Amino acid sequence: MILKILFSQLFTRPATNRFPAKYMPKSVTGFLGKIQSGKTKLVPPVPVPPRFRGRIAYDRDKCIGCQLCIRVCPAKVIQFRPEVKKIRMHVTRCTFCAQCVDACPVDALAVSDQFLLADPDRSAESLTVE
Ligand code: SF4
Ligand code: SF4
Repeated sequence: MILKILFSQLFTRPATNRFPAKYMPKSVTGFLGKIQSGKTKLVPPVPVPPRFRGRIAYDRDKCIGCQLCIRVCPAKVIQFRPEVKKIRMHVTRCTFCAQCVDACPVDALAVSDQFLLADPDRSAESLTVE
């Protein structure tokens, strides 16, 4: 019975989306030379649904430094920068609850559709918002 199921899987379309090749590390895409040279079609990322809560976007110019976002953040993601009266967010700690977005009185914070955030370096530029 199990063998029958396993065999049928070989001819069934996968239910999951393949990871988009353009986000793979170069050590992998370099090995898959065909993808780099454009002979193989890249798999696009999965479209995100409406109101998806991805990486928090920060509009530095709008921010008035009120620190309300810091007060409501349950994961202590946000740090105040007193020298410039702005904030810094450490994305690796974020739970994407969007409470900071709701609390901001000047709409300086917003949810984005970015979800491909994996990085071996937790202090990478892409994981720090300021
Ligand atoms: S989305 Fe939630 S966890 Fe992330 S920074 Fe905002 S309040 Fe903190
Ligand atoms: S709540 Fe908005 S305005 Fe206040 S510090 Fe946070 S981002 Fe800036």
